[in-house]
Amino acid sequence: HVKARGKDGYRFYSASMSIDSANRLILERDLRLALEREELRVFYQPQVCAATNQVVGLEALVRWQHPVRGLLYPRDFLPLAEETRLITQVSEWVMNQAFQDVGHWIRSGQQDLRLAVNLSPIQVEHPKFVETLMKQLRASHFPPRNLEIEITENLIMNDLEQISQKLRELADFGIRIAIDDFGTGYSSLNYIHRLPIHTLKVDQSFVKAIRSGEEGACIVNAIIAMAHGLRLEIIAEGVETTEQLTYLKRLGCHQIQGFIHGAAQPAEAIENCLGHLPAKAAML
Ligand code: C2E
Ligand code: MG
Ligand code: MG
Ligand code: MG
Repeated sequence: HVKARGKDGYRFYSASMSIDSANRLILERDLRLALEREELRVFYQPQVCAATNQVVGLEALVRWQHPVRGLLYPRDFLPLAEETRLITQVSEWVMNQAFQDVGHWIRSGQQDLRLAVNLSPIQVEHPKFVETLMKQLRASHFPPRNLEIEITENLIMNDLEQISQKLRELADFGIRIAIDDFGTGYSSLNYIHRLPIHTLKVDQSFVKAIRSGEEGACIVNAIIAMAHGLRLEIIAEGVETTEQLTYLKRLGCHQIQGFIHGAAQPAEAIENCLGHLPAKAAML
């Protein structure tokens, strides 16, 4: 069942449609082949310091360059990757590629450049998760202090004790931990000061609500105020307009990620904007 072309690519394997078993099998087969044939790509989206306009971090976002169907986005294949547990292989592939790309930039002068990677609950809940990650880091000579892992609140609430032990081990190695889509999960604020968390990422939905008069903006105010109180770094996601940017800067949001500074791009394209952003964005 082929869906209409979405605004940013083909949507063949949509999470929203119920994937019948035939389609599932095709996707599963295709995704296994994609891993073998190296059809996956890592795109990088800049995380920009609100005060200096410097690119301080890059978030790795997976894409699938499908030979027939074009560029596919996470929503087109990650739900099934999770169901079939291929997500672990996908994520390991993404991390390896990102460790190579960003490791190269770190060694060629961007010592403090941070790499942010998204982790799926399935991956983190695996008993050998910490061991596997440390092995991968060592094999690629990627400095742990330059890595930030992004996890979600739901993962934490699944099994607070286990997760907290794993996060502590990683934090002891110097790895940073960010809570992605903060404020949208099923969670209690109780975990925040009990876990070694470094960064909160304000979800796009709250950023979208920054428009004069909208109440959702209050949530952004509250999250940023809390992050300041707890001395956490705060990144706003999905920032698209100058109005949002100005508002977030005024509240003291540390970093900005969103189309206003650039979408995720292939490594070759991102190389040019490392350090400073192109003049257009810097003038905002
Ligand atoms: P996320 O980690 O919350 O990533 C942010 C998403 O918002 C990305 O979508 C990004 O392209 C998009 N985005 C960034 N700036 C803007 C903006 O200004 N406006 C709008 N409308 N969107 C913006 P993407 O790349 O489609 O990824 C979707 C989700 O898929 C990610 O959400 C993350 O949860 C997951 N994901 C992506 N790559 C990986 C991966 O390698 N491993 C795992 N486990 N999950 C991944
Ligand atoms: Mg993320
Ligand atoms: Mg997010
Ligand atoms: Mg997300």
